[in-house]
Amino acid sequence: MNTQALHTYIPNLKQEEPLLISGPCSAETKTQVLETAQLIREKTNTHIYRSGIWKPRTRPGQFEGIGEAGLEWLKEVKQKTGLLVTTEVAKAEHVELCLKAGIDILWIGARTVANPFSIQEIADSLKGTNIPVFIKNPINPDIGLWIGAIERINKAGISKIAAIHRGFYPYEETKFRNIPKWEIAIELKRQFHKLPIICDPSHISGDTNFIKEVSQKAYDLNFDGLMIETHIHPQEALSDASQQVTPQQLKTLLTDLIIRSAPIKNQEVLLQYREQIDSIDHQLLELLSKRMDVINGIGEYKLKNNITIFQLRRWENIIKTRINLGDDLGLDPHFIQSILELMHKDSIRIQNNIMNIKKKL
Ligand code: PEP
Ligand code: MN
Repeated sequence: MNTQALHTYIPNLKQEEPLLISGPCSAETKTQVLETAQLIREKTNTHIYRSGIWKPRTRPGQFEGIGEAGLEWLKEVKQKTGLLVTTEVAKAEHVELCLKAGIDILWIGARTVANPFSIQEIADSLKGTNIPVFIKNPINPDIGLWIGAIERINKAGISKIAAIHRGFYPYEETKFRNIPKWEIAIELKRQFHKLPIICDPSHISGDTNFIKEVSQKAYDLNFDGLMIETHIHPQEALSDASQQVTPQQLKTLLTDLIIRSAPIKNQEVLLQYREQIDSIDHQLLELLSKRMDVINGIGEYKLKNNITIFQLRRWENIIKTRINLGDDLGLDPHFIQSILELMHKDSIRIQNNIMNIKKKL
């Protein structure tokens, strides 16, 4: 996939500098949009001003956005502040109106990314343009849907693409409004090295108290930028009131964040650490291979003596003893449990292979 680095099309963004997108969840009134933009411009080094004008609300009857009128307000923000402007599009009609109004960047929301029909409709309407499109992760933790949406937009001829990580819908009560599942964003980066990834700590947090910690984590994981919802009077916001910060709070939050760069003189130390990790991983893999040899033996034995693969008491005992041992060694119990579950799953797969599949051959 051919995607461009952000600094090649965002003026004033330096090569290693994180991109900053801020602005309200929704455009509500002309005054709110313009005053928020002015303050953001004065207090922060925001590159792109965001504001939703068509709002995909989960339930009907809530504020569904100001609609087309908001495009004029965004145009005025651009003229008065010089900020680039972006808004969310969910269908071809939105794209056409934004292109006509000269909106600089489009973003596609989490609910839309979950629907390939909608994404294809948007992709078709983008053909012949190369307007930047930022693509949020789908609400469900399906990396395939996220990649699929990015590919559809890219195939339409758009190379100015960035992914936005906004977390995933939790099915249970959690600290965050949306579970970050950082590993999914990391896997996206692993598969598409050149694709910029921006973190949206506002929709992950759902609460202004957590925005700083989520933003710092994104910086520490080398994300390419942040999108932070900012409103002149957050408590009066018609959508996402509890997660929006004021321009002043945004300023404070940004000055508190630490951008870790890698000084050349420390590279040597890092290389030594990496060598240690390489060597330990090698030993771990050798041990896992030995463990698998034993599991093969157990499978053959159980087959010969007609014993079931799964033995509840033994499994409970393994979990208990290993978690205790791990605890003594300073290892997190959840981490140990996850590793044991993975090993056990593969052990069952191998034994099943011996007892049921090989047997039939
Ligand atoms: C938004 O950015 O305001 C929004 C609706 O986000 P998401 O699509 O991530 O829910
Ligand atoms: Mn929002």
